[in-house]
Amino acid sequence: MDFALTEEHRMVQNMVREFVQKEVSPIIKEQDRKQEMAAFILPRMGELGILGICIPVRYGGQGMDYISLGLVCEELEVVDSSLRVVMSVHMGLNSMALFQWATEEQKQRFLGPQARGERIACFGLTESGAGSDVAAITSSARKQGGDYILNGEKMWISLATKAHHALVVARTNPEAADPHEGLSAFLVELNSPGVTTGDIHGKLGVRAGSTGWLAFQDVRVPAASRIGEEGEGFRIAMSCLDNGRFTVAAGATGLIRACLEASVRYAHERRAFGKEIGKHQLVQQKIARMVQSYDAARLLYLRAGWMKNRGMRNTRETSLAKWFATDASFEAASEAIQIHGAYGYSDEYDVERYLRNSKGAVIYEGTSEIHQLMQAGYALGYREDATLRCELPAYDPSYWQE
Ligand SMILES: Cc1cc2nc3c(=O)[nH]c(=O)nc-3n(C[C@H](O)[C@H](O)[C@H](O)COP(=O)(O)OP(=O)(O)OC[C@H]3O[C@@H](n4cnc5c(N)ncnc54)[C@H](O)[C@@H]3O)c2cc1C
Repeated sequence: MDFALTEEHRMVQNMVREFVQKEVSPIIKEQDRKQEMAAFILPRMGELGILGICIPVRYGGQGMDYISLGLVCEELEVVDSSLRVVMSVHMGLNSMALFQWATEEQKQRFLGPQARGERIACFGLTESGAGSDVAAITSSARKQGGDYILNGEKMWISLATKAHHALVVARTNPEAADPHEGLSAFLVELNSPGVTTGDIHGKLGVRAGSTGWLAFQDVRVPAASRIGEEGEGFRIAMSCLDNGRFTVAAGATGLIRACLEASVRYAHERRAFGKEIGKHQLVQQKIARMVQSYDAARLLYLRAGWMKNRGMRNTRETSLAKWFATDASFEAASEAIQIHGAYGYSDEYDVERYLRNSKGAVIYEGTSEIHQLMQAGYALGYREDATLRCELPAYDPSYWQE
């Protein structure tokens, strides 16, 4: 067992750390207040190669491994969750799905521009009546000649108004005996006639990010843009979540680190009862708990990344990492505010933003309740992962970097 990061891992970590500290940290509070994403963020992430970090060079990426993706997400979320959300949807939920499931022609057409950051990608699964219960999806894709006619609406879609491509799951067979089997996945170009998009305002957190909706009215999607086979949409969506949840777990780990660093700083600065508050044992207890959460969350996501590198199925381990890290980041953010006292309750300090941002991740990509059901299901023997027709390829540096 080797716990050491490689030279390449450290280079990626330092590159992202420098980017967020120098370019994002000074403006993030203002963007959060204005509730908009700074215009330079996505092009800059593309320019730095972040948007294609773990995609092979032949498809426009940087050819790094899946652990690098986790490290990128951790560093991004130390400064703001909205940056990590970009990686969750553009990379975890979309580009990695194309890499896993798409044909060679589809990879050249869609994945290359995404990995180079020329096209931004999002993921359209959730609908107003279908969140945790994916089989309740009502968006439909009806076959007509060489096309599908797509109708429906997707809600709570990160980057809805910024993206060029959406991976959309819709019902192709309303007659399927098992509603899970009636779904298919499509790569939809969002400039197609009949597509409209909009932003959702008034969110609790990720305010410097973009969350919105996608509406499809008689949108003609070529059959060549269907990802995977007809009826494979549910399995594809779940495999997307194995990758998206990995990015969320790594990001939430970064958020715990941000809470810990802010709390340690403040505990040294602030004095009460004649000494710095860090000398009070109840404050130390909160800090100790953040240290514990950070290390445990980090080990859990690194294990999931290591399994991805080896091509091992990691649905259980990724779910555990995501559930643990997101719950722990919410708790860490709440305790970080407590340590800051009244000052933590205002936006003079970052910790109130950490708390607002942390809550979203306890809801998206499987609520904490869904992850608990999954974990109990595995433990009790009620749940087993079937082999997929297309598994996420194991990391092979010679293929990735060729
Ligand atoms: C900021 C943000 C960004 C998002 N981005 C995206 C995106 O890019 N793409 C996308 O497709 N979706 C996205 N989502 C949607 C997200 O994935 C869903 O909100 C999530 O899956 C939960 O669905 P829901 O909100 O409909 O809640 P519901 O499924 O209605 O759940 C409501 C409550 O009931 C509980 N519950 C449901 N079923 C069970 C059960 N069987 N047992 C116990 N409890 C249960 C849930 O845990 C929850 O507490 C985003 C959401 C947010 C907040």
